[in-house]
Amino acid sequence: MPHEYAVIGWPLGHTMSPVIHNASFHALGLECTFSARELHPDAFDRFMRELPRSSFKGLAVTIPYKTKILSYCHEQDSTVSAIGAANTLRVEPGGALAAFNTDAPGAGRALAEAGVDVKGSRTVVIGAGGAARAICFQLMWDGAASIAIVNRTLSRAESLRGDLLHAASRDVTITASPLEKNALSTALEDARLFINTTSIGMYPRVDECPLDPDLLHDGIAVFDIVYNPVETKLLRAAKAAGAKTVPGTEMLLHQAAAQQRIWRSIDAPLNTMRAALLQILHTRSCSPQPLTQNNSCYQPVRMYSKVVVQPIH
Ligand code: NAP
Repeated sequence: MPHEYAVIGWPLGHTMSPVIHNASFHALGLECTFSARELHPDAFDRFMRELPRSSFKGLAVTIPYKTKILSYCHEQDSTVSAIGAANTLRVEPGGALAAFNTDAPGAGRALAEAGVDVKGSRTVVIGAGGAARAICFQLMWDGAASIAIVNRTLSRAESLRGDLLHAASRDVTITASPLEKNALSTALEDARLFINTTSIGMYPRVDECPLDPDLLHDGIAVFDIVYNPVETKLLRAAKAAGAKTVPGTEMLLHQAAAQQRIWRSIDAPLNTMRAALLQILHTRSCSPQPLTQNNSCYQPVRMYSKVVVQPIH
């Protein structure tokens, strides 16, 4: 029997996870399948209660379930305990569910591989949602001197600031500001790293940019976690300003590689996964995937094929 893995979320039209994971399983010759399972909120509780007895060996978890799954889990690693959200589940042989968060180390690895040294840096993060939460904790663990959180909803930025300060085990300056040009301008003046964790600039709103490009300078690295399109308007503006850039595809790949280490103790072939991801993003010309109902639940979605999303009722 092939080992079965899947991503669950609602809605799931945008997911690239099957492409990345199946590319790796296929390249390594592993008998594993990875599918996209759109899980309606009404079916969530039943699905989670049946998961220990299901054929799944592990799950990737996305919006809106990253926090909700925790009450069904028997174990969680220290990253999940700190952040309060998980994006990875492993079903242990006896049926116990273990929760992990690979968004945080995935972002850290993407920055490190791009040569961005976070230690001692002044950093600015726009957004205060789930991804921002994972990234801000990773910035703190990686030694950032300061983290300026800028968000449309100020209370959410303040809440994240409070959680970070509560968990801080060293001196780190953390501020929370509303998403206004003045706040961004002040924060960016002497910043070494700017990270967009909002969906601004994501397909189809590809002409949007989370900040005025005039605020960018060549002393800053810019990391945009939006991965569709691969090169966002923000990254184009950053390149034009002479800044170092890190695309969201790298975080996506590194967090997926970390998931495969958790599930199968394997070193995933990043170059193969990257080629498959970039090919499908370019082939699709950044267009969203129509939902496709398909009964072949247990077929692997092969590398370079379109992403098939299967609903769970
Ligand atoms: P989330 O929890 O819903 O948070 C969304 C954040 O974006 C919030 O801070 C929200 O501000 C802000 N935002 C959304 N639309 C905005 C707008 N028009 N103007 C200003 N702020 C806006 O979502 P998430 O899980 O953090 O994901 C955010 C993005 O990251 C998505 O595009 C997702 O695809 C991407 N992502 C990428 C990776 C990767 O591996 N590359 C991993 C995870 C997520 P408010 O608080 O004011 O609502």
